[in-house]
Amino acid sequence: MLNVIIFGPPGSGKGTQGVKIAEKYGLAHVSTGDLLRKEIETNTHFGTIVKGYIDKGELVPDATIIEILDSYVDKLPVGQGIIFDGFPRTVEQAQSLMNMMAEHNAQISILVDLEVERQELIDRIVLRGKTSGRSDDNAETVEKRLAVYDEKTKPAVDFFDNLKLYKKIDGNGTIDEIFGRLCDAIDAVK
Ligand code: UDP
Ligand code: MG
Repeated sequence: MLNVIIFGPPGSGKGTQGVKIAEKYGLAHVSTGDLLRKEIETNTHFGTIVKGYIDKGELVPDATIIEILDSYVDKLPVGQGIIFDGFPRTVEQAQSLMNMMAEHNAQISILVDLEVERQELIDRIVLRGKTSGRSDDNAETVEKRLAVYDEKTKPAVDFFDNLKLYKKIDGNGTIDEIFGRLCDAIDAVK
């Protein structure tokens, strides 16, 4: 069973590429950001909690995110491979994910980390903000999201590197070029 983590800063292309990878390899695409936005849209108990964090560009607390993710993954068919998009975002979440996988007798196959220059990330997100309708896709919030990424999320790289699951990918170029690089990395561990 193939289980992939697509990792990288905001605007690095995780969502775009995650959908393509899910389709090609028959994986369930699990974007925690999308799950959170669904909670907000449908006005759930979790939705009211998480909205404030997202609007400020901060991370939703580990316990909340893990509970939402857990209940989603539990509903997938047994043996269904997954691509995790935008999760884990802290070392603690990384540890929780490994525990969750072990409970399901599953493993992470690879983490692919999309590397994109900072100014390009900002440009992409500000452009996306014009059509996405996302409350956090603007120049001010993006600075915060990038700072949070550097401080809290990036340390998870070492966690996965130590497990020999880490693969850096050049995230510059056309969507198809980047997709090709990702597929080469995934095919190598499949
Ligand atoms: N978020 C979070 N934990 C997650 C996923 C998302 O706290 O596991 C929050 C966080 O506030 C983040 C926002 O949701 O800034 C948007 O996340 P998403 O992954 O959609 O953004 P991306 O990084 O793909 O641009
Ligand atoms: Mg995304």
